[in-house]
Amino acid sequence: MVVKTDRVFGNYLNGRWKEKDQSPIESINPSNTKEIVGYVQNSKAEDVEEAVEAAETASRPWRKLTGAERGSYLFKAANILEERLDDIAETLAREMGKTLPESKGETARGVAILRYYAGEGMRADGDVIPSTDSKALMFSKRVPLGVVGVITPWNFPVAIPVWKIAPALIYGNTVVFKPATEAAVTAAKVVECFADAGLPDGVINFVTGSGRVIGDALVGHEKVHGLTFTGSEQTGRQIGRTAAERGAKYQLEMGGKNPVIIAEDADLALAVEATISGAFRSTGQKCTATSRVIVAEEVLQPFQKLLVAKTKEITIGNAIDDGIWMGPSASEAQLKTVLDYIEIGKQEGADVLCGGERMTGGNFTEGYFVEPTIFSNVKSDMRIAQEEIFGPVIALIVAKDLEDALAIANDSRYGLSASIFTTNIQKMLTFIEDMDAGLVRVNAESAGVELQAPFGGMKSSSSHSREQGQAAKEFYTSIKTVFVKGQ
Ligand code: NAD
Repeated sequence: MVVKTDRVFGNYLNGRWKEKDQSPIESINPSNTKEIVGYVQNSKAEDVEEAVEAAETASRPWRKLTGAERGSYLFKAANILEERLDDIAETLAREMGKTLPESKGETARGVAILRYYAGEGMRADGDVIPSTDSKALMFSKRVPLGVVGVITPWNFPVAIPVWKIAPALIYGNTVVFKPATEAAVTAAKVVECFADAGLPDGVINFVTGSGRVIGDALVGHEKVHGLTFTGSEQTGRQIGRTAAERGAKYQLEMGGKNPVIIAEDADLALAVEATISGAFRSTGQKCTATSRVIVAEEVLQPFQKLLVAKTKEITIGNAIDDGIWMGPSASEAQLKTVLDYIEIGKQEGADVLCGGERMTGGNFTEGYFVEPTIFSNVKSDMRIAQEEIFGPVIALIVAKDLEDALAIANDSRYGLSASIFTTNIQKMLTFIEDMDAGLVRVNAESAGVELQAPFGGMKSSSSHSREQGQAAKEFYTSIKTVFVKGQ
């Protein structure tokens, strides 16, 4: 499939693609920075104004459709996304550096999410509640918020927008979507699927550009009644403050510093495979990526040896090439962050067991490649054990026993996901009970989210609401309580 590298994508406002920017922003391929993947608009606050006005005008007619009617648009969008899967996955791989198989998997997930929520339009959305008046009928029903602002990061440019936009729409909201600029070409192609599904004008609007300019305009807009955000903690907190001040409903999904515990009775081969997959797939750029590996001292040596040996087998290169298991960091800024943390780890006194360097020369010359890196001798209070790196770097920390391992695992401001490897059922149960994380997994890697299950973090990872599955309804609707009495 040929990708048009010179293509300029407009904003999608009130049912029309609009290119008005004379100097659009270029989107670069992090595997080969000589390649421009496409261009997007460098929008202004007035474009957000136009988008919100369109979304507000579309809101009443859209909410008056039946759930089944709204669902039929989502089914159409799912079919279109499925037809374009290869092209969109390739764009994703080129724009963000996620390997092609993972990009295809993510796009297929987008299709599945759309179909899941399309069906939700037919589900019951309220309860009958016994009234104290025997002649009355009392019930609750779910109603939409109105206009929802969707702000997304670059690391899942298909799945995250879809898991926000699909429930927003099915529950009767209209949308203004602002993607991360680093992956905005992929996001534009996702919006094209909604547009080509024939959604009424203004139901979905798309505006690209700087977070500070258009993000602020969207977050501060009095006609935007709900804000759903995934991204860094710093941006999320700011969005939360602004939304709270003006009384908008908001939902924040932010960072993680996800641990895996390797108990002394773990299946080490399984644990190593899952640690590598959890830590290094997507170049460590998943919010649920494994970044702390807490190992029982009895098995430290064999685990470490196997982990290093298997890590050295990872094939690294251009995200769209066959046989590549790990691509580059997604941007120059991300590469710099990763390299800075590797330096910090060395200065803090941790030992580099493998990796630790930027990859240069040959096919790596024009990309943001960094070696998968394992630090040992890490103490829980070191910065590399506390701060989110968002790259292929793991910190090995030794634990005396499960109690110690859990204390280390919980010694974090974050609480997004966590996993344990053990064959002992009591250890599994203790971990499930005592681990402070929104997603806990047993004998499986820390990364792994299923679209039909609630997803979100504890502590500083989230604003404590949940996304996906049935939980999405909580955010995208308000409850109206109805009391009806005849004469
Ligand atoms: P980011 O916070 O830099 O950007 C996220 C989005 O916010 C982008 O669209 C950006 O343009 C926008 N933005 C920036 N400033 C803004 C402002 N002032 N007002 C409104 N919007 C603004 O995050 P990122 O670098 O794109 O993504 C990486 C982060 O996302 C990591 O911290 C990662 O853990 C987190 N993440 C979390 C989850 C989760 O579900 N918890 C999932 C994926 C990624």
